[in-house]
Amino acid sequence: MDIHEYQAKELLAKFGIAVPHGGIADSPDQAVYRANEIGGSRWVVKAQIHSGARGKAGGVRLCKDEHQVRAAAKAMLGERLVTYQTGPQGRIVHRVYIEAATGIERELYLALILDRKSERIVVVASRNGGMDIEKIARTQPESITREIVEPAIGMCAFQARQVAFSLGLQPAQMKQAVMTILGAYRTLRELDATMVEINPLVVTTDGALLALDAKMTFDDNALFRRPNVSELRDWSEEDPREAEAHQYGLNYVALEGNIGCIVNGAGLAMASMDMIKYAGGNPANFLDVGGGATPDRVAKAFKLVLSDPKVEGVLVNIFAGINRCDWVAEGVIQAARETRLKLPLVVRLAGTNVEQGRRILQDSGLPLVTADSLAEAAQKIVHALKSASRAIN
Ligand code: GDP
Ligand code: MN
Repeated sequence: MDIHEYQAKELLAKFGIAVPHGGIADSPDQAVYRANEIGGSRWVVKAQIHSGARGKAGGVRLCKDEHQVRAAAKAMLGERLVTYQTGPQGRIVHRVYIEAATGIERELYLALILDRKSERIVVVASRNGGMDIEKIARTQPESITREIVEPAIGMCAFQARQVAFSLGLQPAQMKQAVMTILGAYRTLRELDATMVEINPLVVTTDGALLALDAKMTFDDNALFRRPNVSELRDWSEEDPREAEAHQYGLNYVALEGNIGCIVNGAGLAMASMDMIKYAGGNPANFLDVGGGATPDRVAKAFKLVLSDPKVEGVLVNIFAGINRCDWVAEGVIQAARETRLKLPLVVRLAGTNVEQGRRILQDSGLPLVTADSLAEAAQKIVHALKSASRAIN
């Protein structure tokens, strides 16, 4: 799960990291109100979307008076912001964050990342922070420092000092740098984050360190024990179908293809996607309907899969252990009727009550194709789509 910059800054501040004074706004009027509340004579208006690289896309604007704050907020709110990280569809800006502008001396980079390869938390730092960090990582990899944290010991103060030294800071800034690095580490560990990125971490013209931008990603599997983190989730930033699936307790991930998949069990769902690929097709989603899937739940899953306009055919693959094939069959029929399904549908059932399930499907009179094995089911749905497209062309 990702969160917004303003939320990440709030969390970092709780762990002793200095951040600019700011406030959130969802209208131009409120943006001006926030600017007045913050005081001073320079502000930055920042689009709050789950994406970096906003600066280069017009999502970060420096303002010198009230009118500019209002104009910047007006230009961003309700609009689609396209950065190179969002993809061409961009993201709608629902809120802007107003901050007191900072006089910048230097822009540094600091991140703590769960590195899956080394199975360690790695501190990544560079004296060349800011908007071109990706380019720096490519062209001057030697300018980037990495410090691995031993899990049994945790991050030590000497490691934080080493990272701070590599940033080329003045002696007077060392103490704050060490506090910032250790604070970021505690934030990551105590909130079960998998990434904390501060880019840029700036040295201000007054010689202080300030987190000017912040990004955090959390481990979804740990959210159950971090209610104060999980409540920060912004559903408007998520795929609407994934959000809906979450409400029904279904495990759904949207993909690029055109074959909708309804499967029980995550492993079988993965295998089904593989088999579709192997047969020459492309899955439109990953979906695990879970264990005791009642007819109603299967019907919900079905409708969810069909709500994706890319879907041109559906494969249902159920291996019923805890599940019951007759329930699944009822769910399939219910959903097919309610949605007046016209797309090719292949169903493979095996396991508990399979005979009853097959009979229910047969008696339904629906034009569905049944299959005995997973491989056969995958071939049949791919074949059905090819025939359908041949018929159209
Ligand atoms: P990102 O492009 O989405 O990563 O957004 P950032 O918050 O990192 O802002 C991009 C750039 O805008 C930073 O690298 C800074 O150079 C500049 N910027 C952001 N806030 C301020 C500020 O308060 N003062 C000044 N002078 N520049 C800022
Ligand atoms: Mn940034």
